[in-house]
Amino acid sequence: MPHAYEDVLVVRDGDARGNRMVVRLTTSSGRRIVAIGVPQPDIEDRLGPTWAYLFECEGVNLVDAGAHGTLDDLNDGIETAGYSPSDVDRVIITHGHSDHDGAAFRFVRDNDAELWAHDVYARTLTFDDSRIQRNLKTPLAAQMNAHRSRNGRSRDSDSFWRTEPGYREAKKGADVHRRVQGGELVGDMRLMHTPGHSPDELCVVLDNVVFTGDHVLPEITPHPTCRVRFTEEVERALSPEYTDADALYGLETYIQSLRLVEELGREVQVLPAHRLFNKGRFNFTDVGRIGEIIEHHAERLELALDVVDGGGGTLTDVTRALFPRQTPESPVYHLALTEAVAHVELLHESGDLEIAGDGGLRATGSRNHLRIVGESAAAKLAK
Ligand SMILES: [Zn+2]
Ligand SMILES: [Zn+2]
Repeated sequence: MPHAYEDVLVVRDGDARGNRMVVRLTTSSGRRIVAIGVPQPDIEDRLGPTWAYLFECEGVNLVDAGAHGTLDDLNDGIETAGYSPSDVDRVIITHGHSDHDGAAFRFVRDNDAELWAHDVYARTLTFDDSRIQRNLKTPLAAQMNAHRSRNGRSRDSDSFWRTEPGYREAKKGADVHRRVQGGELVGDMRLMHTPGHSPDELCVVLDNVVFTGDHVLPEITPHPTCRVRFTEEVERALSPEYTDADALYGLETYIQSLRLVEELGREVQVLPAHRLFNKGRFNFTDVGRIGEIIEHHAERLELALDVVDGGGGTLTDVTRALFPRQTPESPVYHLALTEAVAHVELLHESGDLEIAGDGGLRATGSRNHLRIVGESAAAKLAK
């Protein structure tokens, strides 16, 4: 597969998904970056490992640490690459999902390293996602919660993202040593705030690569947040610095953040937190991948609008159209449902769709959302 690295050295082979694989990449400017495939606690997880990246720039940096309970695998990967965990000066967390920061809290304590994350991460550290979701009162949230209560409090429906036992407690006690704001420069690194998949998402730009966390992934399209998750509780925690804090959530925010990274230019290579390697091969990609992700959402917006055009429809109808293979009994149905919500919200905000008090959806006949997805994605759809 073509790529722009000077050299790609597999230091240790892993399995076909890249679990426990250690790779040393040399960028065009000669900088070495170690990629470590840290397995999920359930090694069979289809997401594959979380890729943690180690490199030198103003000290030794680790971008993401992997899930709670996988510290031994992370340490082993670092040692396999010829470093010691105690060499690491700072762990930069791309966003506050447990597969990224789970192993970080003990790692920084054990190794006297610093934890860096976006300011929004630090401010929402103690939030309980599932409780926030339960307290949502909008018509769309009512439908999401109706699904929740029908399916009981199983692990997957109780918590939006999987969280391993002990994770939330470890997180509550964490110190964020540096609260990053967007646009900061640290030596040759540039830290970009790219909210959308998560309100606190950071991308790290270094030489001709960008570490994207879950903001840009090969093979799979990252899950956008819903605007309804921006509650008064979140607003209180973020104010007064984030007067526009609802702009940290939702699909439109996500698309805007994608454009921000796209502007880096196609020569910039993406180093993602998932699927760097899968099915026995590397997925090297550049920021051109972003165009595909935006087109994918443009397609879904059209699909959603088609469903409610004419006779109207419900969130369930939209979810079924977007994810025909997912049934409400599926353990990951809540992800399909919330992804549908993110699309319905964007259509509602752009005036293309109305939401009735009972949650009924009706198309207005306008196509304003095309302005948000952009001309090139819209033109591709028209073909
Ligand atoms: Zn994530
Ligand atoms: Zn992730």
